[in-house]
Amino acid sequence: MPDATYDVAVIGAGIIGLSTAMHLLERHPGLSVGIIEKNDEIATQQTGHNSGVIHSGIYYPPGSFKARFCVEGRESMSRFCQENGIDYKPIGKVIIATAEDQFPRLELLHERGTANGVPDLQLIDADRLHEIEPHVKALRALWAPHTGIVNYRDVSAAYLRRVEDTGGELRLGSPVRAFHRSSDSLVIETATGEFAARNVVNCAGLHSDRIALMMGVNPGVKILPFRGEYYTLKKESEKLVKGLIYPVPDPDLPFLGVHFTHNVKGYVEAGPNAVLATAREGYRKRDFSPRDFVDTVWYRGFWKMAASEWKTGFSEMNRSFRKGVFVKDLQKMIPEITASDLGEGGSGVRAQAVDRSGRLLDDFVIEQTENAVHVLNAPSPGATASLVIGRHITDLAEQAFSLN
Ligand SMILES: Cc1cc2nc3c(=O)[nH]c(=O)nc-3n(C[C@H](O)[C@H](O)[C@H](O)COP(=O)(O)OP(=O)(O)OC[C@H]3O[C@@H](n4cnc5c(N)ncnc54)[C@H](O)[C@@H]3O)c2cc1C
Repeated sequence: MPDATYDVAVIGAGIIGLSTAMHLLERHPGLSVGIIEKNDEIATQQTGHNSGVIHSGIYYPPGSFKARFCVEGRESMSRFCQENGIDYKPIGKVIIATAEDQFPRLELLHERGTANGVPDLQLIDADRLHEIEPHVKALRALWAPHTGIVNYRDVSAAYLRRVEDTGGELRLGSPVRAFHRSSDSLVIETATGEFAARNVVNCAGLHSDRIALMMGVNPGVKILPFRGEYYTLKKESEKLVKGLIYPVPDPDLPFLGVHFTHNVKGYVEAGPNAVLATAREGYRKRDFSPRDFVDTVWYRGFWKMAASEWKTGFSEMNRSFRKGVFVKDLQKMIPEITASDLGEGGSGVRAQAVDRSGRLLDDFVIEQTENAVHVLNAPSPGATASLVIGRHITDLAEQAFSLN
């Protein structure tokens, strides 16, 4: 006998699973929704290990899901924080060009951001930049005054309160291990018991491809884990950074480059880099999972990616192991920063979908199959966009699960 039967089971209590459950219940009061989470707390993976930035939507090609969901997502997230008493600060962000050959890319970002509807985006000169960030040395910058910061664990906790207030259930400590079909539902086997569900939403982040496979769905991609490592600026060095400082990103990679971010708790971080991890939950350099490692190196897409991106991979590894190299990159933005300004920091692991041709998928990927919706790629700005992604999944679920 299953421990419970749900109309919809959401796998994963990260910010996207929680937002989805919240939207399903708000639109369909009385629906029975269970969130099945493998860990003993919510938001322990990507959601609890990110830069905490409420992005404004500058980088993404117009018309992409990221562009649409991020611009609307920033507005919705800011409003949600105000309405729910969550500490957030719209402190503003600069993307800086430190060499003339970066000007065309900076201008492209200005055009993209404007086309995407990012409000009050401005190209500024070195004098104006000096007023905003006195310690930065650059030739030009793009100024996005409404980019903000928040703690996404607080946002997730607020989503959960709404889920529980509207009758949803959270099952912690329940790693999903297998699915099998019974007459009118799916039986979800976890390490601690069984649940029956008529429909499933897969929001398992770093393990979402495996959940799809367990359900008999070929996801068409594999999740490769990319660790992002941070340093924290020492208290006396925090004055070097007023808001959010980003480089002009490499147009061929879906990562933004190491940056400086203020955190709502009051400290300043530098990072993250992007190093291929040897475990899907490899938060430390020494973390190694034989299963995850073999899974990566058996994947044709990994070798294709390695063949085209080996130089980038090598330089990221070099920067990861040598603090001096990391510092040199930071000095391109703030020349006076030295290794002695940097203390220990944390890390996060990105769930990056890679296809068989070795392409790192840039946009959000959310697929609908019979009685299921699978979130297969939800990298940054997924937390910013979480309210809009949750609404979008609810739209898909209404069709796929015949909820209306
Ligand atoms: C280093 C880094 C920096 C980032 N910076 C930003 C930023 O500044 N702004 C921004 O908007 N976005 C940022 N992001 C992206 C953002 O964090 C993600 O888009 C978002 O957290 C994705 O949420 P999620 O719910 O899909 O995944 P997760 O938070 O990873 O949640 C997935 C959940 O599924 C659970 N799960 C997995 N497998 C199973 C299983 N078998 N059974 C049951 N449960 C399972 C996990 O335990 C986890 O709780 C960053 C990400 C990283 C890694």
